[in-house]
Amino acid sequence: MDDDGFHMSGEAFRAHGHALIDWIASYLDGIEQHPVRSSVEPGWVRDQLPAHPPVHGEDFGQMLADVERIVVPGLTHWQHPSFLAYFPSNTSGPSILGELLSAGLGVQGMLWATSPACTEVETHMLDWLLDLLGLPDRFRSTGAGGGVIQDSASSATLCALLAARERVADRSQADTADPYRRCAVYASEHAHSSVAKAVRIAGLDPSLLRLIPSGDDHALRADAFAHAVERDRQAGLAPTMVVATVGTTSSTAIDPVPTIAETAVPAGCWVHVDAALAGTAAVCPELRWIHDGVDRADSYCFNPHKWMFTNFDCDAFYVADRHALLRALSVTPEYLRNAASDSGEVIDYRDWQVPLGRRFRALKLWFVIRHYGEEGLRHHVREHLRLAAGFAARVAAHPDFELVAPVPLNLVCFRHRGGDDFNAALVERLNDSGALYLTHTRLDGRYTIRCSIGQTRTTQRHVDAAWEQITHVAATMDATGAVG
Ligand code: PLP
Repeated sequence: MDDDGFHMSGEAFRAHGHALIDWIASYLDGIEQHPVRSSVEPGWVRDQLPAHPPVHGEDFGQMLADVERIVVPGLTHWQHPSFLAYFPSNTSGPSILGELLSAGLGVQGMLWATSPACTEVETHMLDWLLDLLGLPDRFRSTGAGGGVIQDSASSATLCALLAARERVADRSQADTADPYRRCAVYASEHAHSSVAKAVRIAGLDPSLLRLIPSGDDHALRADAFAHAVERDRQAGLAPTMVVATVGTTSSTAIDPVPTIAETAVPAGCWVHVDAALAGTAAVCPELRWIHDGVDRADSYCFNPHKWMFTNFDCDAFYVADRHALLRALSVTPEYLRNAASDSGEVIDYRDWQVPLGRRFRALKLWFVIRHYGEEGLRHHVREHLRLAAGFAARVAAHPDFELVAPVPLNLVCFRHRGGDDFNAALVERLNDSGALYLTHTRLDGRYTIRCSIGQTRTTQRHVDAAWEQITHVAATMDATGAVG
């Protein structure tokens, strides 16, 4: 019997824990046996589950067997080396172990006082990331700014907008009863949908979200942004925040942060830089140009949970002036008051985010950074860029395919010359095969295939096999997309 009363005994936990780690190791070692994309029909997974919860406790061994039987067929295997869809959401041994340790410790890090190590390791890791990426000192915890781990880049954008909104409200308190109605927000037409969501959540007028057109490179046009700001100011609106994207979701286009800042900063418009995917590239000094202009930003974020071998969730969010964030998010009820907070000497991260509670997420970051070191991280990023460049060269050299966007980093946007329907059918057929997984976007109004290279285990062999499969399947389809 493996329980202690109704709890799992320490001895049983040890045994099941070892079995679970063995299971995860075998899953990752054998991941290529699985089709990359799950092919279950909607409702299949629920049909396998009992209609009602068990009355009596069950055996952990049975639970693990059900993971194999019910969960695995319903998985799309994001850690598969031929997962070339969406964006990398890569993980690694040290990250998984850090996550497990966080669960094992089970601390709540809402206040410094509720677990000082949870706060201080996090502050230190966020400062380490500045060194790793060569980011400006204005975000360092030792000055007026600082960093915090958010669950996602979407939350980072929301928090930045709440701080920017308060800054406008503070300034205009005297001259208008409802300053939020005047807040205009700017982002490229290719910015992530989280910007529109943040505008709604912040209670701003969605019709004052200005989606600025992009140029041939799919990056925001700084001249169009400057015009929009000028027009809004003349109309009595308050340019509140601009989101500049470093590495758009569709095509990794890089918005011109220096020229955006030239307009935004004098207009008092908060500059938030969203480098969710691309930020990790800056571990390589030769790629730090992607962060040109970030030294003028009010806030910045990137996701170690995308390309830095750190499992979801882990977004690194920085502000240049932490007091702006605290003004927006700090509410202190009596039951959270304590001497350390009152002293002003400590960071209470509950004031830097929307929820109160928070896990010890910095542990996995600490383990990942120590395991790989700067050089290890650089090695993998450079390898992914090399693989992407090789894939792009093959697309460019093939008479039936074309590149659709520049390839500054790890994402190749391309299409077959056969048209939208042909490309959509090609992607469906490839994904149905289970051998690889690709997704699409629309650029210049046309269907575009995205090949995103950044998984922990992706090697030359997987990229070669993907290209072979793409060209082979395309060659067997006639112009309507039917198999010939
Ligand atoms: N911003 C950009 C540029 C992204 O590419 C993504 C994800 O694709 C996000 C934001 C959203 O990331 P998260 O899931 O961390 O909110």
